[in-house]
Amino acid sequence: KASVMEGVNFEEDPPTEDLEESMAKSVFEKLQEDRKTLPMYPYRDELLQAVYDHQVLVIVGETGSGKTTQIPQYLHEAGYTKRGMIGCTQPRRVAAMSVAARVSQEMGVKLGHEVGYSIRFEDCTSEKTILKYMTDGMLLREFLGEPDLASYSVVMVDEAHERTLSTDILFGLVKDITRFRPDLKLLISSATLDAEKFSDYFDSAPIFKIPGRRFPVEIHYTKAPEADYLDAAIVTALQIHVTQQPGDGDILVFLTGQEEIETAEEILKHRTRGLGTKIPELIICPIYANLPTELQAKIFEPTPEGARKVVLATNIAETSLTIDGIKYVIDPGFCKMKSYNPRTGMESLLVTPISKASANQRSGRSGRTGPGKCFRLYTAYNYYNDLDDNTVPEIQRTNLANVVLSLKSLGIHDLLNFDFMDPPPAEALLKALELLFALSALNKLGELTKVGRRMAEFPLDPMLSKMIVASEKYQCSDEVISIAAMLSVGGSIFYRPKDKQVHADTARMNFHTGNVGDHTALLKIYSSWKETNYSTQWCYENYIQATAILENEVMVPTGMVKLDWVRSMKRARDIRDQLEGLLERVEIELTSNSNDLDAIKKAITAGFFPHSAKLQKNGSYRTVKYPQTVYIHPSSGLAQVLPRWVVYHELVLTTKEYMRQVTELKPDWLVEIAPHYYQLKDVTDSVSKKMPRGAGRASETN
Ligand code: ADP
Ligand code: MG
Repeated sequence: KASVMEGVNFEEDPPTEDLEESMAKSVFEKLQEDRKTLPMYPYRDELLQAVYDHQVLVIVGETGSGKTTQIPQYLHEAGYTKRGMIGCTQPRRVAAMSVAARVSQEMGVKLGHEVGYSIRFEDCTSEKTILKYMTDGMLLREFLGEPDLASYSVVMVDEAHERTLSTDILFGLVKDITRFRPDLKLLISSATLDAEKFSDYFDSAPIFKIPGRRFPVEIHYTKAPEADYLDAAIVTALQIHVTQQPGDGDILVFLTGQEEIETAEEILKHRTRGLGTKIPELIICPIYANLPTELQAKIFEPTPEGARKVVLATNIAETSLTIDGIKYVIDPGFCKMKSYNPRTGMESLLVTPISKASANQRSGRSGRTGPGKCFRLYTAYNYYNDLDDNTVPEIQRTNLANVVLSLKSLGIHDLLNFDFMDPPPAEALLKALELLFALSALNKLGELTKVGRRMAEFPLDPMLSKMIVASEKYQCSDEVISIAAMLSVGGSIFYRPKDKQVHADTARMNFHTGNVGDHTALLKIYSSWKETNYSTQWCYENYIQATAILENEVMVPTGMVKLDWVRSMKRARDIRDQLEGLLERVEIELTSNSNDLDAIKKAITAGFFPHSAKLQKNGSYRTVKYPQTVYIHPSSGLAQVLPRWVVYHELVLTTKEYMRQVTELKPDWLVEIAPHYYQLKDVTDSVSKKMPRGAGRASETN
């Protein structure tokens, strides 16, 4: 970089690139030093030896000891990636993304290159990828394409103690492949001490314990039960903030979900504003599954001097993510948990008391870097007498249709004798088989049909995949995959700012005019957006979420990273593209039938007929097959219309059991489309119209 001027020697200003490079270098060096301070580090060589000596290893270590971020790197450094990838599963997608981002920084590589992540509908990996973080559900799907996981040299089933449905199924599958792939290393890692159970299951695999560095945690219980735990949590957080030195440590509050966290955030903002400048700054950091990535990074930023951070988190902060600097934990004692009624096949998310194991994980989060304090917003009596010891594994409280379909397409037929760590209730297995049979995915012998084989290709719930497969018959696959994509976005499509709710609602209702359901409204939104050539401006005008408020570059403790998270419409487009690819794979032609709304509704019904409901005199609905009272969700375009018969996408329990995403239906269709499931008597309404007035049982309807 010599000067071009002859005779005089000018020295150039160092180009900014170099500056950035040297900054990056020092950041990199700092990260390498940090890695060496983790509890895991002194055991690096011992661990590598143990992995070398044993095919299967159970690893136990306190949250934050470095299991997730370090072990895959150690194995890479030891050469395991020469033979294949190292895959590490996470129960939550936020954790998979965030950990991959962290590890890519530690390795000084671009996220998505050597280190990547894979979550449903979002594959951030490349041919270069050697360390792959993924959700447990994604690894399960990879089995479908590669039953021996040949591209992996190591599989680490991380957060095994969470016992999610996918993790439990993975246990059975990976245990099986270790038998015929002696070169594959399998690591099962867990944050809790029930490692014996994992070891027993994996034929007495040795347990590698990483001694924790836990500081004492003082536990406080309330004297009496709290009627309003949210308010109690907020008051406690403020009390800590006001009475304790800010440099002293941050606060972590466990709440149950996004809505609760947003409410708490608002109240906290309001109350701290009320206290004015008399108190130090309180930085509020929410973290939950649907939080856009660039906002997630905020929780890892170091707290500025003189301020305090309060992290409002779901269960995700229990063991999946480690936030440094927490001294105070506030634990109201609840989480949102799935429960399933195998009789009706209905699934609901309920706010449920946590287990003792969870409570202890939560309190442990305060004693990582120094002595901590945990405020339990329940009584000591509650803790000792009312809380269960452990959380019931998800496999015992969920709908199994999805995994049964996956297992069937892996050729595993004898589900009752599958090697489950804890078997699901036989009733739930039967229910899943029954549903798959009703959807024509299985035949009477329980064997996968052609329909079932096609359905299994889609990373969707069986009813959604059935809807897509059925669209072939009704020649509307083009429309149906748009609907499926819109339903799969996760999070709201609609933007409803507090000061413009009326405008937003009017805009939303525009998509419902002349419409007969929320599904077709979603389709209309998608098609209109497509017509504008995917214009972001159009989204703003119509109060549709185009993307999250995008700051492309965000600060994390270690420098700038670029994480772009496209949400809502852009995500829908992405998902739709993927579904279009899968259509091709199952050889369903992309055909459009946009003028025939009935055809589209029939395809929806072909997937969702088990979710049909009939209007009652009082404006409520009654589900047809397993009668239960339900209501149309107020956000639905049909909430005021109240059609006589509807199909719904899902039930959500808030103040009532609500149907969300509802479409009108003709009752005859139920018998036409699912004659093996519904009989004429189930849909008497339609019969009555064809019968002479006053005849027979027809008078019973309305
Ligand atoms: P474990 O899996 O044993 O719970 P991790 O490997 O996840 O531990 O975490 C080790 C350390 O790495 C944590 O103490 C935390 O400081 C740091 N860390 C992990 N993820 C991130 C992230 N996304 N951003 C910043 N730091 C992180
Ligand atoms: Mg971890």
